[in-house]
Amino acid sequence: MLKTLRVMLVPNRNQNTQLFQFAGTARFAYNWALEQESKNYEAGGKFINDYELRKRFTAFKHEAENKWLYRISNNVCKQAVKDAVDAYQKFFKGLSKHPKYKSRKRGKPSFYVDPVKIKFTETHVKLENIAESKKKNRQRANWLRLAEHDRIPVNAKYSNPHVSFDGLNWFLTVGIEIPDHEPIAISNDGIGIDLGVKDLAICSTGHVYKNINKTSRVRRLKKKQRRLQREISRKYEKNKKGESYQKTRNIIKSEKQLLRVTHRLTDIRTNYIQQVTTEIVKREPSFIVTEDLNVTGMMKNKHLAKAVQEQKLAEFYRIIRYKCEWNGIRFITADSFYASSKTCSVCGSIKKDLKLSDRIYRCEHCGATIDRDLNASINLCQYGKSIINH
Ligand SMILES: [Zn+2]
Repeated sequence: MLKTLRVMLVPNRNQNTQLFQFAGTARFAYNWALEQESKNYEAGGKFINDYELRKRFTAFKHEAENKWLYRISNNVCKQAVKDAVDAYQKFFKGLSKHPKYKSRKRGKPSFYVDPVKIKFTETHVKLENIAESKKKNRQRANWLRLAEHDRIPVNAKYSNPHVSFDGLNWFLTVGIEIPDHEPIAISNDGIGIDLGVKDLAICSTGHVYKNINKTSRVRRLKKKQRRLQREISRKYEKNKKGESYQKTRNIIKSEKQLLRVTHRLTDIRTNYIQQVTTEIVKREPSFIVTEDLNVTGMMKNKHLAKAVQEQKLAEFYRIIRYKCEWNGIRFITADSFYASSKTCSVCGSIKKDLKLSDRIYRCEHCGATIDRDLNASINLCQYGKSIINH
């Protein structure tokens, strides 16, 4: 099973410059390859494959004014050319539009690293050719510090390592092959999870995970975010020259600030989801059931859309799903027609006229009174049991 890990890098100033240079070169090679394909296509030529184009790129590198390309790790250009070829092939087969050239301004700086040559220690990662000199004492510059220690296993088989810049920091993503987990014994209980907007998750075990967006910390940040957004658009209006907007130093500064706040919010939300899903998985249930998260349907509801997006419900679903897979827990999605909210978890009768505002479920048949979301999560758990037993 392939596990993908993402860790922040802490490059020093020189390394930082080098990373941007690598990303710039990747962009250059991508655009070069795209141009070759386009010109060839317009001249009525057939699609040029990856192998052929890479050969041409090597010849291009040999030309005197392009010698600088030798400074950058070979794999950076190789993969960029391959990406361009893949994108072009899709276009050629009529599967997608003509691929766009990567822009320096709008594009996200990123590049691939050779999976064979990449090395890890507990604290550092080695990327090839970051050091400009081949001298032994300079080679230390090839080792970049990782923000989290012991996260990526040393001496594993790595696949598709990729470095990217999100506007503030550099990140490394890498795939690692891990052994499949033995499935957890069926004798363990399962857990039903009701996902919602009021609270994030309500488990059939009675555990409730609150909506993080209602905490004062997040509220404060959101307020700050709104303030900055207003400030920036005001500054743009003020510095407008004729029809075009100008970016002043002051605006750049505020935009950086805004980016920092936005990332802080994303980090808090993602972190929280990671914590909650880990805690649920650690109880070692034999199965986990969630409702079919018709997020797109929920997104159409304007009122709910923002809340769903802020809660990152789709992200929650994705993460708990892969964590189940990693830990040998069966993951079940209840059919969207299954009335988990309207069914009584005690006697099984269905209450058709349950409103969204009814926070307590009161059964007219057996007289049970139970929290609406807890009732739903218990039903989901029972739904899972019936699936496993059949
Ligand atoms: Zn009942």
